[in-house]
Amino acid sequence: MFPLTFKQLASVVGGQIVRGPQHQLIRGVVYRRAEHLQSGMICFLEPKRFGSASFLKHKKSSGVVAPLGGERWIPRHHPLITVPNVTEALWRLVRWQREQSRATVVAITGSSGKTTTKEMLASIAKQKYPTLKTLYNRNLLRSLPSHLFRLNGLHRVVVLEVSPPHLRVHCQYAQPLIGIITNIGEAHIGNFGSLNNLVRSKQQLILGIQPGGTLIINADDPGSKQLNLNLFHGNIIRIGIDQPANLRATHIRFTTKGMQFRVDGIPYFIPTWGKHHVYNALAAIAAARKLGIPTTLIQRGLSRYAVPPGRLQPLPGIHGSTLIHDAYNANPTAMIAGLKVLKHIAGSRPSIAVLGNMLELGPYTASGHQKVGHTVAKLGISRLITVGSHARAIAQAAVMKGLPPKRIRSFPNLQAAASSLPKMIVPGSVVYFKASRNIHLDRLVFQLQKKK
Ligand code: ATP
Ligand code: MG
Repeated sequence: MFPLTFKQLASVVGGQIVRGPQHQLIRGVVYRRAEHLQSGMICFLEPKRFGSASFLKHKKSSGVVAPLGGERWIPRHHPLITVPNVTEALWRLVRWQREQSRATVVAITGSSGKTTTKEMLASIAKQKYPTLKTLYNRNLLRSLPSHLFRLNGLHRVVVLEVSPPHLRVHCQYAQPLIGIITNIGEAHIGNFGSLNNLVRSKQQLILGIQPGGTLIINADDPGSKQLNLNLFHGNIIRIGIDQPANLRATHIRFTTKGMQFRVDGIPYFIPTWGKHHVYNALAAIAAARKLGIPTTLIQRGLSRYAVPPGRLQPLPGIHGSTLIHDAYNANPTAMIAGLKVLKHIAGSRPSIAVLGNMLELGPYTASGHQKVGHTVAKLGISRLITVGSHARAIAQAAVMKGLPPKRIRSFPNLQAAASSLPKMIVPGSVVYFKASRNIHLDRLVFQLQKKK
């Protein structure tokens, strides 16, 4: 955080100092959990959290920002600023923090691939610049202040994962100069009602990029073709594989450790599999070039990208099998992309797909699962195991397209699958796991992992 004095803070948040040393320096902020308060920090106390005020008795702080009338609640050993509205005061401090920073912010949205692209770009950016990235997968409205409070004077690049419905507010405070829309597909479509609404919601990013900024989009993605680019007055970079694009990947090859590809004749490697991850890497390369990062550092950053857990994570399994844990989350496009990876990795070994329900698809639930079933049959997966009622439609569609029923088992739930699955793991097979996060397929992965 950019430190500021108690007096400066009062002016930034538009509050009145009730008591406290004006020159006291503040180096940290607590705004949701007063119990995390330590000396040197300031605490924003919402009226609904006045219950936490009793905690304050045993804590030291550099001050408390509380609503008008807070004097009655806050123990006297805490310096105090009162404000008409604590939430507004907090956001004023967020804005001030951002204004102190010279960092270039890259905001990433899209239906899938946000976290992956963010991790790839952060891995590249940190080869040249002190870089701040969104921690984990936190793209909620209330996470933004904590990300921006981590900014300090050294940071030159910030990589943020942002999502509707908070995109507009996120952009307003984060002020991105570069925006990436990875793709616009069926992921979370059930929350939006229609593809049209989904496109409109992602479009908020276009409106949120700073004047003269850059927008990176996917030329091969049908959903992204619906974006109204007339709304954007900056520089547009199209990435792609199949369609003409400003940054196009060619010579794409699966290797045992990941993917190789070329852009403008320059070779790159990413330590993860699938064409879908080549798109994520292309978006990261486009942003990195814009940030002025030299090619050798882009190559190095991409090759050192650490795969986040549950996203095509290879693990040793029982009976000499290889487990591919991709069950962090799922949508039809992602599941199809993952099945292609399974087929490549398995080669001549038996391929087993353990596929669970995909949620948040709304009216696309049946068709989404069926589409996956068709792919399972087309790829000739050796064995299909489905978990859950929606996922049964994957099995039915696979049978319709010619996968022999004896190669399929459908379980109603996780418990039923857990008791039968270990017997179904063929020695030396490659077993792929994918489902929506709330299905908890990771519990099956854990069960089938080879114990050390
Ligand atoms: P969330 O909305 O849950 O935050 P996300 O957009 O951050 O997701 P990732 O965490 O990067 O996405 O990836 C989630 C899953 O989406 C991956 O496990 C993978 O199966 C799939 N995926 C990642 N990138 C792409 C892509 N470019 N196209 C299609 N599917 C992708
Ligand atoms: Mg994410």
